[in-house]
Amino acid sequence: MKTQVCVIGGGPAGLMLSHMLHQNGIDTVVLERQSKDKDYVLSRIRAGVLEHDAAQLLRDYGLGARMDKMGKVKDGTQILWRDKESHLIDVKKWTGKHMVAWGQTYITEDLYAARERDGGAVICEAKNVALHEVDSEAPFVTYQKDGRTERIDARYIAGCDGYHGPSRQAIPQHLRRSYERVYPFGWLGIMVEKPPLENFIYAYHSDGMAMAAQRNPQLSRYYAQAPVSDKIEDWSDDRF
Ligand SMILES: Cc1cc2nc3c(=O)[nH]c(=O)nc-3n(C[C@H](O)[C@H](O)[C@H](O)COP(=O)(O)OP(=O)(O)OC[C@H]3O[C@@H](n4cnc5c(N)ncnc54)[C@H](O)[C@@H]3O)c2cc1C
Repeated sequence: MKTQVCVIGGGPAGLMLSHMLHQNGIDTVVLERQSKDKDYVLSRIRAGVLEHDAAQLLRDYGLGARMDKMGKVKDGTQILWRDKESHLIDVKKWTGKHMVAWGQTYITEDLYAARERDGGAVICEAKNVALHEVDSEAPFVTYQKDGRTERIDARYIAGCDGYHGPSRQAIPQHLRRSYERVYPFGWLGIMVEKPPLENFIYAYHSDGMAMAAQRNPQLSRYYAQAPVSDKIEDWSDDRF
């Protein structure tokens, strides 16, 4: 198979890139390791807070309708710092821009639907994806699907498969640059079937940081700082 751009990874970055390239007349094939269905890609719960520019990009590329109808516009973020009075950072007032509370799962759903509608090639459950001759004029990608090895020749390969995916590893060592900041703690996130608090809240407490965010009118997202060594079993509802 031949394409102009082979995109590795069918998360929001890979799908959005494929969608944008399509709208600019450029042909792509997206390779995703997991299944698309509700068991994996479409059920992966992550982001819920969209910065203004990310929301605007979706609108600019025809993907903002559901977000603008069902997402919640947020003008600022509340900061709680130990026993000090709470403080609202009025982002709208100071930058003229707002944020939107809108779940990443919905964005991914809309992106898959758009690629399907436009006849885009998105190949899910592509196993053992490997990049070859990436620093040549004729790079190619191989993968396995249904027991067969396939090959895609591309003018460009776009690695949208995250830190642990094969793309980063395929960049020759002398060209690869990593920018990384490692924090000495983790954060535990939970979803709660309760109407969310009015504002996004970032809090600092003697036990560490916490955050209150939201997904939709009936679903709240909370985070609390936790030691990286903790397991989910260490966190009862009461402790949270
Ligand atoms: C708990 C949590 C909360 C977050 N909250 C926010 C938020 O509120 N706002 C915000 O803006 N961001 C948030 N983020 C960050 C946001 O989720 C990520 O920036 C976003 O998912 C990155 O998208 P991506 O497409 O680059 O990577 P991913 O979503 O990781 O997608 C990468 C894709 O590549 C695929 N892949 C990996 N390896 C291979 C392989 N070998 N072959 C083929 N495919 C492969 C994966 O299966 C995956 O589908 C949050 C992240 C987490 C974890």
